[in-house]
Amino acid sequence: MANLAPQLGGAAVAPLANSTPASTSNDAPTAASNDQLAATSPSTALPYLARSYAFADYATANNWIGGSFRPGSLGRQLPVDNPRYGKVMGQVTLSDSRDVQAAVDAAKMALPAWKNTPIKERAQVMYRLKALLERDMDELCWLLAAENGKTYAEAKGDIDKGIECIEFAASLPNLAIGGQADVSRGVNCETTFEPLGIVGGVVPFNFPIMVPLWMIPNALVGGNCFILKPSEVVPFGAMRLAFYLKEAGLPDGVFQTINGQQPAVEALVDHPDIKAIGFVGSTRVAHLLYARGSALGKRMLCLGGAKNHVLVVPDADVELSASNIVASSFGCAGQRCMASSLMVAVGPTGRIIDAMVATARKIKLGEDMGAVISTVAKARILRYIDEAEAAGAKVLVDGRGATVAGCPDGNWVGPTILDFVRADMPAACDEIFGPVLSIVRTQTLDQAIAVENANVYGNGAAIFTTSGAVARYAVDRLEAGMVGVNIGVPVPREPFSFGGFGDSKFGHGDLTGIDGYRFWTRAKKVTTKWALQADQNWMN
Ligand code: NAD
Repeated sequence: MANLAPQLGGAAVAPLANSTPASTSNDAPTAASNDQLAATSPSTALPYLARSYAFADYATANNWIGGSFRPGSLGRQLPVDNPRYGKVMGQVTLSDSRDVQAAVDAAKMALPAWKNTPIKERAQVMYRLKALLERDMDELCWLLAAENGKTYAEAKGDIDKGIECIEFAASLPNLAIGGQADVSRGVNCETTFEPLGIVGGVVPFNFPIMVPLWMIPNALVGGNCFILKPSEVVPFGAMRLAFYLKEAGLPDGVFQTINGQQPAVEALVDHPDIKAIGFVGSTRVAHLLYARGSALGKRMLCLGGAKNHVLVVPDADVELSASNIVASSFGCAGQRCMASSLMVAVGPTGRIIDAMVATARKIKLGEDMGAVISTVAKARILRYIDEAEAAGAKVLVDGRGATVAGCPDGNWVGPTILDFVRADMPAACDEIFGPVLSIVRTQTLDQAIAVENANVYGNGAAIFTTSGAVARYAVDRLEAGMVGVNIGVPVPREPFSFGGFGDSKFGHGDLTGIDGYRFWTRAKKVTTKWALQADQNWMN
C-alpha cells in the first residue's frame, strides 16, 4: 500500500500520527440511516454520524441561524452525492438574501456582548472546540470521507490541519496585544485591534473542515460574528462545526451558516452590514467576488485555483523525490490547491520518473486514494488526459477506466502520469483538479523556472535537489507564494500564514496566521496626553 499520508492534510509534515481508521475500511456498502447510527453514537445529539465507508443517508443540511436549524427561504434543496458510491446521500437547503438577512439580524443581537467579551474568554471557546473535534475525530473522519470521497487518512489530515488553526487562534491573546510607546514627553501612542463586526466566509468542497477553520477561529477570537457559506457539495461537516461551536460555549448568533449557491454568496457579499468576506475556491469565482465586494468598499480576500509546479533536477534524491511528488500529486485524488500537478524535469531525470511510476502504480484506489468529487469532475479530468494523449503526450500511468470493487458507480479516476507534455498544452496550463501529473521536459533550470513563472497562478512551487545552491537559486526566482525545497506540498504550518501569488489570490495579505487575524480586525490608534495642568489641577 502506498503511503500518501505524509502530506494529505495539505501540510508538509511528518506522517500524521494515529491515522489508522478505528473502524474497518471498505466496509460492504450496506445502507444505514442516520437514526440507526445515532443509536450507537457516544454523542447522540449530533447529526450526520458516520462509522465507516459504508453508505448512509443523511438528514437535510439546513441553515444554522441564531442557534437552530431552519430551511432556506427558497423552499428548494439540492441533492448531495457520496462520491465513493456516486449516489445521493442527502440534501442541502438553498438560500437567498432573506436567509442572509435573518443571519445578519441574529448576529446583530449577538455582536455587542461577544465583542465586549474579553479576548481571553473568547479564546477559551477554541480550547473547547479543539477538545470536541478530538473527541469525535474518528466519526468526523468518516463523515468527511462520505461527503467528499476522501480516504479516512486524508480526512484526518483535513481535521488535524484545521485543529492547528484553532490552536493558533487560541494563542491570540498572547500575540494580539497590539503595542504602545511613549512617543514624546507625556504623549503615548497605542494600537489595539478591534473586530470588524459581522463577517463572512465562502469555502470550496475539497477541505470541508480545514478551510472553514482557516477563517472561523481567527475571526471569532477577534470578536466578530461569522457567517459561513459551506460548499453545497459537502455541507455536512460544516453543520457539525456549528454544533461543536455551540457545545464549546459560543453564544447563539455568533457563528451561523447559510447554505446554497450563487444567490446565497452574492447576498453575503452585497449585504451592507457584512464588513469582510474571506473566499476560497476557483479563480473564476474568486476574481468575480473580489471585484464585486471591493466595488462596495468591502474588505475582501479571495483565494483562487492553482497549477503548482515541481522542478526536479538530476541530483535530486530518487526515493525522496518520487515519494513526495506522488503523494503531492495524488493525495486527495489531486483535489488540493497545493497538489503538484506539473513537474518540470530538468535534464536526465529518468530514474526519478521511473520511481514515480512504480510508486504511483502501487496506489490502491479506494484505500490509499479516494474518489473525485463528481461525475462532472471525472469527465473533465478524463477529457484532459484524452486530449493530452491525442496531442502527443505519453501516458506513463493511466487512471482511465479505474474501478473499485463494491463501488461500481463511484467517481473513480486512478493516478495518471503524462510525460512529454508541452508547456503550451491545456494539461500543462489549466488547473485539472484531479489525479493527473503532467511532465514537461527542459534542458536547463532557467528554462524550468521560466515555465513556472509563465503560468498565471502562483500558489505553490517546489524544487527537488540535493544542492543548497540550486535550491536557493530556484527559491529566489520562483513566482509562487509558497515555495518548497524537497517538499511536495509546501503548506506553511501555523503560525506561518497561507496564501499565494498571481491568480491564486486576490486581495492583500494571507488568510491564516497573524495575517488572518489582521484581516478580520481593524487597528485603532490611540494617542494620549495626560500632562499636569499647573493652574487647574487638584494636586496643587
Ligand atoms: P468553486 O469556486 O466552484 O466554489 C467555491 C465556493 O464558491 C462554493 O461555496 C460555491 O458555492 C461558491 N460559488 C461557486 N460559483 C459561484 C458564483 N458564480 N458566484 C458566487 N459563488 C459561487 O470551487 P470548488 O470547486 O468548490 O473548489 C475547488 C477550487 O478551489 C479549486 O480551484 C481549488 O484550487 C480552489 N482552492 C483554492 C485554495 C487556495 O487556498 N488557494 C484552497 C482550496 C481550494
